[in-house]
This record gives sequence, structure tokens and C-alpha cells, in this order.
Amino acid sequence: MKNRIKTFGEWLDKEQIDGAIITSPDHVFYFTGFYSDPHERLMAIILFPKEEPFLILPQMETESARKAGYSYSIVGYLDTENPWDALEREMKKRARKVERMAIEKSHMNVERYEEIQNRFPGVSIVGAEKKLQEMRVIKDEEELRRMEKAGELADYAIEVGVQAIREGITELELVAIVEYELKKKGVEKMSFDTTILFGDNAANPHGSPGTRKLQRGEFVLFDLGVIYEGYCSDITRTVAFGEAKEKHVKVYNTVLKAQEAALEASRPGITCQELDQIARQIITEAGYGQYFTHRLGHGLGISIHEYPSVTGTNPLPLKKGMVFTIEPGIYIPGEIGVRIEDDVYITETGAKTLTKYPKELKIIQ
Ligand code: MN
Ligand code: MN
Repeated sequence: MKNRIKTFGEWLDKEQIDGAIITSPDHVFYFTGFYSDPHERLMAIILFPKEEPFLILPQMETESARKAGYSYSIVGYLDTENPWDALEREMKKRARKVERMAIEKSHMNVERYEEIQNRFPGVSIVGAEKKLQEMRVIKDEEELRRMEKAGELADYAIEVGVQAIREGITELELVAIVEYELKKKGVEKMSFDTTILFGDNAANPHGSPGTRKLQRGEFVLFDLGVIYEGYCSDITRTVAFGEAKEKHVKVYNTVLKAQEAALEASRPGITCQELDQIARQIITEAGYGQYFTHRLGHGLGISIHEYPSVTGTNPLPLKKGMVFTIEPGIYIPGEIGVRIEDDVYITETGAKTLTKYPKELKIIQ
């Protein structure tokens, strides 16, 4: 955490920014090790070029922040107080002047923005996102360790889900079984709503589970992830139940071939767009190009979707330490949806997967 605060401070110094108000829970966690979603209440870490930072948050949360290992100043406020009074006072104590300020433009709301304008008249505002992205995109060893563990738990979740498949079970029942078993393993939170979809319901890449009952001949798509010590995993596996039509097997094997080709090609130097194209070309050549309707993947870490975006238009070259998903899919409306997703990290010479559940087509009896 201290290194992160120092690196960010050096950037503020270089850019002649007097202070930064960082408000998104994910970035507060990145700098403090403390995660909280305070909803409408203000929580922010205020960072400076040279002075030590302070964390402002509801009084009732101060002890948890300490327990999480954050060691700089904490300014707690009561619900009867206006947190902006304390923020303004503490910020002015530490900064000689506040003429240029960094915020997260994509997170700050208008009400808070106006508050800043009123309290620091004439202040010019700079977006902090680019720098934060640049810092977060390369994962350190500890981050990788947590993500490896999150990946293992995601593999376990798929295993539990596949084992529980039987005729007549509903999508939501399967979700409940998977999440119950994970809770027993000590997983506090999933990284997003567990998505288990049957048959043509899986043809919607962002479909949601309901009370539909599983029938023989349908595919079951599992898309889920867990949060382990603040870090996310994200895995998708698709299996067949009872039997699989020849056409559906072809769809499956096309997705698998595309996924493995992109995985194989992942290494330092190749660009995000090249990777997307490798997978897309295989799907297009098999005649399903129009049914692969989203990007190849996305970065992940503290957030389930973060930088970089693995799209056909991102020229960013991969570097050692980046972690992202590879998740091609084919979605034929009214019929079938197949997606296979792994989390991968870039090593010096190639890539390793953090999710390892087997990928050859399983037909569950
Ligand atoms: Mn996913
Ligand atoms: Mn994903």
C-alpha cells in the first residue's frame, strides 16, 4: 500500500496536482487495504504529492479500517456532521494551495463535484483514472497469489455445479447449491451474480437465471466468480445434459478452438486487438462470426471488469503481470449459447491460466 501511495504521489508531483480525492471503493481498497461500500455516505482517501494521506469515512467504520492494516490518518465523521467540512479543513492543513485537484471523473457524482467547486473556488480538475489504470494493470506477486486462490475457488464452484446437474432442476436451484457450497468454504461474496442458464436462455450473453427446468439435450452455461481477499475470479464453462446434437457439438468445439488459440497466443508483446482477432477469425471461418457479439475479454483484479479491454480496437501490447479473461462465445438466438472463459496472467514468456477446470465437452448423464 505504501508503495502505491508513493508512486501516485510522485505522479501528482510531476503533474503539479495539489491533491487527489479518491472515492471509488475499489480504489480506496487499492490504497488502504480496506474495502467498504458506504452507499450514499462519503468515503475517500485524500492523497498529496508529498504529505501523508488521510482517509475520511463514517466514524463507525474507522475501527475496521485500522483492522485492515491502514496506518495513516483517519478522519471519522458522525451522521450529524457534514463530512465536507472535515475534508476541506484537513485538506487545507496539508496542502499549501489547492488549485489543481485530481478526482475519479467516472465515479464522482455531480452533487460532490459541486461541493468541491464551492469549497475550492476556481480549482481545476484532472482525471486520475489513466494513472490508476496504469498502476493497477500490472499485478504484483501478492495480487497474483490472491487471484490464483480466487481461480481455484471458481474451479471448485463449477465442479459443484456440474455435479448437481439433474433433469428437472431449475437454474436458480443450481445457483443456490453452488453458492451454498462456497459459503461453507468461507467465500463471503461472489464477484457478480452467479449466472446459470439452460438451453436457449444461454443465447443471451447477459441472461439471468430463473425457474426454468432442465431438459435432456440442453446445454448448461455456468458463469461465476468469487472474491478472495479483495480479488475477483471469473470463469465460464458450458456442458451438455443427456445428449448433444451434432450441430451443438460443432458450436462447442469452435468456441473451444478459438479460446485455446487465443490462450496459446497470449504472451508479452502481442496486442489486445490481435488476440481478439485470432479468436474471432476461427469463429468466423466456422460460419458463426455474426453470433460472437462481444469482445474477447476484459482485465480483472479488484474489479470484475477493469483495464485492459480485450477488444478488436485496442492496440495495447500485453505485458508481464497483466491479468485478463479470454471468453469467446457463440450465441444462436432461440437455440443455444456457448461460452468458455478463463482468467489468464501474462508471464515473461507466455501466459498461465488461473482457472483450470477441464474444457473438453462433457455430456452429463
Ligand atoms: Mn464471466
Ligand atoms: Mn468475464
